[in-house]
Amino acid sequence: MKNIVLFGAPGVGKGTHALLLAEKYDLEHFSTGEMLRQEVAEGTPLGLRVKSLMDKGDLVGDDVVIGLIDKALSATTKGVIFDGFPRTVQQAQALDFLLAQHRRRLSCVISIDAPQEELVRRIHERAAISNRSDDANEDIIRHRLEEYDAKTRPVVDYYKVSGLLVSIDGSGQINQTSMRLCEVVDRMIR
Ligand code: ADP
Repeated sequence: MKNIVLFGAPGVGKGTHALLLAEKYDLEHFSTGEMLRQEVAEGTPLGLRVKSLMDKGDLVGDDVVIGLIDKALSATTKGVIFDGFPRTVQQAQALDFLLAQHRRRLSCVISIDAPQEELVRRIHERAAISNRSDDANEDIIRHRLEEYDAKTRPVVDYYKVSGLLVSIDGSGQINQTSMRLCEVVDRMIR
Protein backbone atom coordinates (compact mmCIF):
# COMPACT_ATOMS: atom_id res chain seq x y z
CA MET A 1 0.00 0.00 0.00
CA LYS A 2 1.37 3.39 -1.02
CA ASN A 3 1.45 6.26 1.48
CA ILE A 4 3.02 9.34 -0.04
CA VAL A 5 3.68 12.81 1.39
CA LEU A 6 3.67 15.57 -1.20
CA PHE A 7 5.69 18.44 0.16
CA GLY A 8 6.24 22.00 -1.03
CA ALA A 9 5.57 25.71 -0.52
CA PRO A 10 2.18 27.39 -1.02
CA GLY A 11 1.55 27.81 -4.75
CA VAL A 12 3.90 25.07 -5.89
CA GLY A 13 1.02 22.94 -7.19
CA LYS A 14 0.70 20.30 -4.47
CA GLY A 15 -3.09 20.22 -4.74
CA THR A 16 -3.13 19.82 -8.52
CA HIS A 17 -0.48 17.11 -8.50
CA ALA A 18 -1.94 15.30 -5.50
CA LEU A 19 -5.24 14.98 -7.39
CA LEU A 20 -3.49 13.65 -10.51
CA LEU A 21 -1.48 11.11 -8.49
CA ALA A 22 -4.53 10.04 -6.48
CA GLU A 23 -6.34 9.32 -9.75
CA LYS A 24 -3.44 7.50 -11.42
CA TYR A 25 -2.44 5.32 -8.44
CA ASP A 26 -5.91 4.96 -6.89
CA LEU A 27 -5.02 6.75 -3.66
CA GLU A 28 -7.09 8.68 -1.15
CA HIS A 29 -6.25 12.40 -1.30
CA PHE A 30 -5.91 14.00 2.15
CA SER A 31 -5.55 17.79 1.91
CA THR A 32 -5.58 19.43 5.34
CA GLY A 33 -6.18 22.82 3.65
CA GLU A 34 -9.32 21.44 1.94
CA MET A 35 -10.48 19.73 5.15
CA LEU A 36 -10.10 23.00 7.05
CA ARG A 37 -11.85 25.08 4.35
CA GLN A 38 -14.72 22.56 4.50
CA GLU A 39 -15.01 23.04 8.28
CA VAL A 40 -15.03 26.83 7.79
CA ALA A 41 -17.66 26.61 5.02
CA GLU A 42 -19.90 24.45 7.21
CA GLY A 43 -19.44 26.80 10.17
CA THR A 44 -18.48 23.97 12.55
CA PRO A 45 -16.97 24.89 15.96
CA LEU A 46 -13.57 23.83 14.61
CA GLY A 47 -14.13 25.93 11.48
CA LEU A 48 -14.98 28.97 13.59
CA ARG A 49 -11.79 28.48 15.62
CA VAL A 50 -9.44 28.25 12.62
CA LYS A 51 -10.99 30.80 10.24
CA SER A 52 -9.14 33.88 11.47
CA LEU A 53 -5.78 32.04 11.52
CA MET A 54 -6.28 30.87 7.93
CA ASP A 55 -7.40 34.32 6.81
CA LYS A 56 -4.17 35.78 8.22
CA GLY A 57 -2.00 33.09 6.60
CA ASP A 58 -0.96 31.60 9.96
CA LEU A 59 -0.71 27.86 10.41
CA VAL A 60 -3.48 26.39 12.54
CA GLY A 61 -2.59 24.38 15.66
CA ASP A 62 -0.86 21.01 15.28
CA ASP A 63 -3.49 19.26 17.42
CA VAL A 64 -6.27 20.39 15.05
CA VAL A 65 -4.75 18.99 11.85
CA ILE A 66 -3.39 15.87 13.56
CA GLY A 67 -6.96 15.15 14.75
CA LEU A 68 -8.32 15.57 11.21
CA ILE A 69 -5.71 13.21 9.76
CA ASP A 70 -6.31 10.60 12.48
CA LYS A 71 -10.04 10.65 11.73
CA ALA A 72 -9.47 10.44 7.97
CA LEU A 73 -7.03 7.53 8.33
CA SER A 74 -9.62 5.63 10.36
CA ALA A 75 -12.09 6.00 7.50
CA THR A 76 -10.09 4.40 4.67
CA THR A 77 -8.20 1.23 3.82
CA LYS A 78 -6.69 2.69 0.63
CA GLY A 79 -3.21 4.13 0.20
CA VAL A 80 -3.03 7.86 0.90
CA ILE A 81 -1.45 10.92 -0.64
CA PHE A 82 -0.88 13.61 2.00
CA ASP A 83 -1.09 17.17 0.63
CA GLY A 84 -0.20 20.05 2.96
CA PHE A 85 0.52 17.74 5.90
CA PRO A 86 2.86 17.49 7.75
CA ARG A 87 3.76 21.19 7.94
CA THR A 88 5.73 21.20 11.20
CA VAL A 89 8.23 18.78 12.73
CA GLN A 90 5.65 17.99 15.44
CA GLN A 91 3.15 17.03 12.74
CA ALA A 92 5.77 14.83 11.04
CA GLN A 93 6.40 13.02 14.34
CA ALA A 94 2.66 12.63 14.86
CA LEU A 95 2.28 11.22 11.34
CA ASP A 96 4.89 8.53 12.08
CA PHE A 97 2.96 7.62 15.20
CA LEU A 98 -0.44 7.61 13.46
CA LEU A 99 0.80 5.55 10.51
CA ALA A 100 2.21 2.93 12.89
CA GLN A 101 -1.07 2.90 14.81
CA HIS A 102 -2.98 2.37 11.56
CA ARG A 103 -0.49 -0.32 10.47
CA ARG A 104 0.86 1.69 7.58
CA ARG A 105 4.27 2.95 6.63
CA LEU A 106 5.43 5.92 4.60
CA SER A 107 6.52 4.97 1.07
CA CYS A 108 8.16 8.27 0.15
CA VAL A 109 8.16 12.03 0.65
CA ILE A 110 8.33 14.06 -2.56
CA SER A 111 9.30 17.70 -2.31
CA ILE A 112 8.26 19.88 -5.25
CA ASP A 113 10.55 22.89 -5.54
CA ALA A 114 10.12 26.22 -7.35
CA PRO A 115 11.56 29.75 -6.93
CA GLN A 116 9.68 32.07 -4.57
CA GLU A 117 8.71 34.64 -7.24
CA GLU A 118 7.18 31.86 -9.34
CA LEU A 119 5.11 30.78 -6.31
CA VAL A 120 3.81 34.32 -5.74
CA ARG A 121 2.93 34.63 -9.46
CA ARG A 122 1.01 31.33 -9.40
CA ILE A 123 -0.94 32.23 -6.25
CA HIS A 124 -1.96 35.54 -7.87
CA GLU A 125 -3.12 33.62 -10.93
CA ARG A 126 -5.03 31.13 -8.78
CA ALA A 127 -6.69 33.98 -6.84
CA ALA A 128 -8.68 34.89 -9.95
CA ILE A 129 -10.44 31.51 -9.96
CA SER A 130 -10.03 30.00 -6.47
CA ASN A 131 -12.20 32.31 -4.40
CA ARG A 132 -9.72 31.80 -1.53
CA SER A 133 -9.43 34.90 0.63
CA ASP A 134 -5.84 33.96 1.61
CA ASP A 135 -4.84 34.07 -2.10
CA ALA A 136 -6.15 37.58 -2.68
CA ASN A 137 -3.76 39.76 -0.68
CA GLU A 138 -0.03 40.25 -1.29
CA ASP A 139 0.85 40.60 2.43
CA ILE A 140 -0.99 37.42 3.34
CA ILE A 141 0.71 35.49 0.52
CA ARG A 142 4.13 36.71 1.73
CA HIS A 143 3.22 35.75 5.31
CA ARG A 144 2.25 32.21 4.24
CA LEU A 145 5.64 31.89 2.53
CA GLU A 146 7.34 33.13 5.74
CA GLU A 147 5.41 30.55 7.78
CA TYR A 148 6.61 27.94 5.29
CA ASP A 149 10.25 28.99 5.65
CA ALA A 150 10.13 29.17 9.44
CA LYS A 151 8.01 26.14 10.34
CA THR A 152 7.63 23.84 7.35
CA ARG A 153 11.07 23.83 5.70
CA PRO A 154 12.64 22.12 8.77
CA VAL A 155 10.41 19.11 8.00
CA VAL A 156 12.67 18.47 4.97
CA ASP A 157 15.59 17.72 7.30
CA TYR A 158 13.39 15.40 9.35
CA TYR A 159 12.72 13.29 6.25
CA LYS A 160 16.26 13.56 4.83
CA VAL A 161 17.47 11.52 7.77
CA SER A 162 14.97 8.75 7.04
CA GLY A 163 16.15 8.44 3.41
CA LEU A 164 12.57 8.77 2.17
CA LEU A 165 12.94 12.25 0.64
CA VAL A 166 13.12 12.93 -3.09
CA SER A 167 13.15 16.49 -4.48
CA ILE A 168 11.93 17.38 -7.94
CA ASP A 169 11.86 20.58 -9.99
CA GLY A 170 8.35 22.03 -10.08
CA SER A 171 9.14 25.30 -11.86
CA GLY A 172 7.98 24.22 -15.34
CA GLN A 173 4.66 23.23 -16.89
CA ILE A 174 2.18 21.00 -15.04
CA ASN A 175 2.74 18.03 -17.38
CA GLN A 176 6.55 18.21 -16.96
CA THR A 177 6.26 18.16 -13.16
CA SER A 178 3.65 15.44 -13.38
CA MET A 179 5.98 13.23 -15.45
CA ARG A 180 8.79 13.71 -12.94
CA LEU A 181 6.46 12.85 -10.06
CA CYS A 182 5.23 9.66 -11.70
CA GLU A 183 8.83 8.60 -12.42
CA VAL A 184 9.63 8.99 -8.72
CA VAL A 185 6.53 7.14 -7.57
CA ASP A 186 7.18 4.28 -10.03
CA ARG A 187 10.81 4.07 -8.95
CA MET A 188 10.27 4.32 -5.18
CA ILE A 189 7.26 2.08 -4.99
CA ARG A 190 7.01 -1.32 -6.58
P1 ADP B 1 -1.32 26.47 0.47
O1 ADP B 1 -0.45 25.27 0.21
O2 ADP B 1 -1.54 27.30 -0.77
O3 ADP B 1 -0.91 27.29 1.66
P2 ADP B 1 -3.40 24.88 1.83
O4 ADP B 1 -4.77 24.63 1.30
O5 ADP B 1 -2.51 23.69 1.97
O6 ADP B 1 -2.79 25.96 0.82
O7 ADP B 1 -3.48 25.60 3.27
C1 ADP B 1 -4.27 26.74 3.49
C2 ADP B 1 -4.19 27.15 4.96
O8 ADP B 1 -4.72 26.10 5.78
C3 ADP B 1 -2.80 27.37 5.51
O9 ADP B 1 -2.31 28.69 5.27
C4 ADP B 1 -3.01 27.12 7.01
O10 ADP B 1 -3.64 28.22 7.64
C5 ADP B 1 -3.99 25.98 6.99
N1 ADP B 1 -3.33 24.64 6.99
C6 ADP B 1 -3.42 23.70 6.02
N2 ADP B 1 -2.72 22.61 6.33
C7 ADP B 1 -2.16 22.85 7.54
C8 ADP B 1 -1.30 22.11 8.41
N3 ADP B 1 -0.87 20.87 8.09
N4 ADP B 1 -0.91 22.69 9.58
C9 ADP B 1 -1.34 23.92 9.93
N5 ADP B 1 -2.13 24.68 9.16
C10 ADP B 1 -2.55 24.16 7.97
